[in-house]
Amino acid sequence: MYTRRSALKLGIASFLVSLGSGVQSQDLDDTTVIVIGAGISGLAAGQELLRHGAKVIILEAGDYAGGRIRTDMSMGVPFEYGAGWIHGPSSANPIQKLATQIKAPTFLTDDNSLEVFGPDGTQLTDAEYQHIDDTYERLLRKLYLRVWNRDTRSIKEAIADLEPEVLNDPLGRWLLSAFVEFDIGAGIEDISAANAFADTAFEGDDVIFTEGYDTILAPLMSGLDIRLSTPVNRIAYGDDGVIVNGIPADYAICSVPLGVLKTNDIEFDPPLPTDLQVAIEKLGFGSVTKIALRFDKAFWDEKTQYFGIVTEPKGRWNYWLNYRTFSEENVLLGLSFGSYAPIADRMSQSEMTEDALAVLRAVWGEHVDEPNTVLSTHWSEYTNFRGAYSYPQTGGSTEQFEVFGEPVAERLFFAGEHTIFDYHSTTHGAFLSGRHAATRIIEN
Ligand SMILES: Cc1cc2nc3c(=O)[nH]c(=O)nc-3n(C[C@H](O)[C@H](O)[C@H](O)COP(=O)(O)OP(=O)(O)OC[C@H]3O[C@@H](n4cnc5c(N)ncnc54)[C@H](O)[C@@H]3O)c2cc1C
Repeated sequence: MYTRRSALKLGIASFLVSLGSGVQSQDLDDTTVIVIGAGISGLAAGQELLRHGAKVIILEAGDYAGGRIRTDMSMGVPFEYGAGWIHGPSSANPIQKLATQIKAPTFLTDDNSLEVFGPDGTQLTDAEYQHIDDTYERLLRKLYLRVWNRDTRSIKEAIADLEPEVLNDPLGRWLLSAFVEFDIGAGIEDISAANAFADTAFEGDDVIFTEGYDTILAPLMSGLDIRLSTPVNRIAYGDDGVIVNGIPADYAICSVPLGVLKTNDIEFDPPLPTDLQVAIEKLGFGSVTKIALRFDKAFWDEKTQYFGIVTEPKGRWNYWLNYRTFSEENVLLGLSFGSYAPIADRMSQSEMTEDALAVLRAVWGEHVDEPNTVLSTHWSEYTNFRGAYSYPQTGGSTEQFEVFGEPVAERLFFAGEHTIFDYHSTTHGAFLSGRHAATRIIEN
C-alpha cells in the first residue's frame, strides 16, 4: 500500500492507541477462545486474551504464522510477500510501537525520489513530471469536492466526467495506476469514488523494515498455542458457545481474509446474518503483484528510490523500488496493480520474469542482464487469501466494513483488516481489529 494520499488526509484525526487495550484485567481463566487465522489480527487478539487468562487456540490453515506479513530473506535482503511499509509510523501507530519495542531497524523511503519514464522509454523532463503531479493533486481535490456520499460512480467513471482527457493520456493512466490503484489495491474501474479516500491515516512518512517485517511477529506469537496446517471448514455457533472443526469453545474469532469469506469454503452454522453476507459480497478484495529481480550489477541510478515506467496495459510493472538505496543488493522490486495484478498472478514465475524484464528493457535496453534470483507473489491465486487487501468497491458502503465489528449471537467475532474501515488494508488496521474483538470478549 502506498500513501501519497496521506498528506491530504492527515489532520483528520489523531488517535492515541496503546499496545494494551486499556481494558481492566479480568479473569478469563475458565474461558476458551478459538481464533481462526494466525495473521497479525488473530495474533493481536490472542495475546490480549492470553493476558486476561483465557485459554486461546489459534487454528491456521497455512504452514507459517503471520499471513500477509511474510518475509523471505534468501536474497540477503527482505523480500516482503505482503506488507512492506509501516504507513504513518507515528508513535500512535501500534506497528511502530512494536518496531520500537523490539528495536527493529527501519528505513525511511523517499516518495519524492522518483524518476518516471514515458511510453518511449525516455525520462520525463521536470516540467512533464510537474504536470503529472499537478494533475494528480487537481484530480484528488475534484474527487473530494465533487463526489458525494451517495455517488455510485467508480473512480474511472467520475474522472471520465470530471477530466476525461486524463484517461486518454498514457501519463494520466500511469498516475492513476501507480498512485491510486497501488494505494487502494484495485482497478480504478472497480473502486467507489465516494468511499475511496474516506478512511484515515497515522502521521509520518512511510518506513520499511531493513531486517524484515516479520521481525514484529515473535512477541505477538509468544506463549500462544498456534496450530499450523489446520484449515477450518466449519464454525457452528449458538447462545452456549461455538464448535470449530469439532472443537468446543466459549467464543470464536474468525480472522480469515475477506477473500476466503467470499469463497464460502468455511461453513457457518447457522448461516451468517444477512447484513454480514451482504458485506462479504459487496466489499472489494483486489490484488497487488510483486516481483523482485536481483542482478549481478546495477544498470540503474543507485540513488533514486523509485522508478515509474509508463506501460500498457495500465498497471503492468509500472512502479519499481530500488533496493540499492538501503542495501548492497542489486535488487529491483516491480509492482503490478489494478486489473493487471490478477493477470500477473496467474503467470508462472518465468512468464512473469519475461514480462517484467520487457518493461525494464524498454527503458534500459541491453543493459538489462538476466537476473540471478527471482522471487514473486501470486496473491489472488493463494487459496488461504484470494487477494491482497480489501477496498471500497462500487455498490458497497463504508458501513459494511463496520458490520464485522459486531458479534454474532454474542459468541462469534470477526477480526482482520477488512473489519475496520478507517484503517482497512493495513497491518495497523488488522492489529487494532484483533484487539477490538478481544476487548469485546473480555467485556462480555
Ligand atoms: C501485496 C501486499 C502488500 C501490502 N502492503 C502493505 C503495507 O505496505 N503496509 C501495510 O500496513 N499493509 C500492507 N498490506 C496489508 C497487510 O499485509 C494486511 O492488511 C494485514 O497483514 C492483514 O492481517 P490479517 O490478520 O487481517 O489477515 P492475514 O494476515 O491474511 O491473516 C489471516 C490468516 O487466516 C488464515 N486462513 C485463511 N483461511 C483459513 C482457514 N480456512 N482456516 C484457518 N486459517 C485460515 C490465512 O492463512 C492467514 O494466515 C499488504 C498486503 C499485501 C498482500
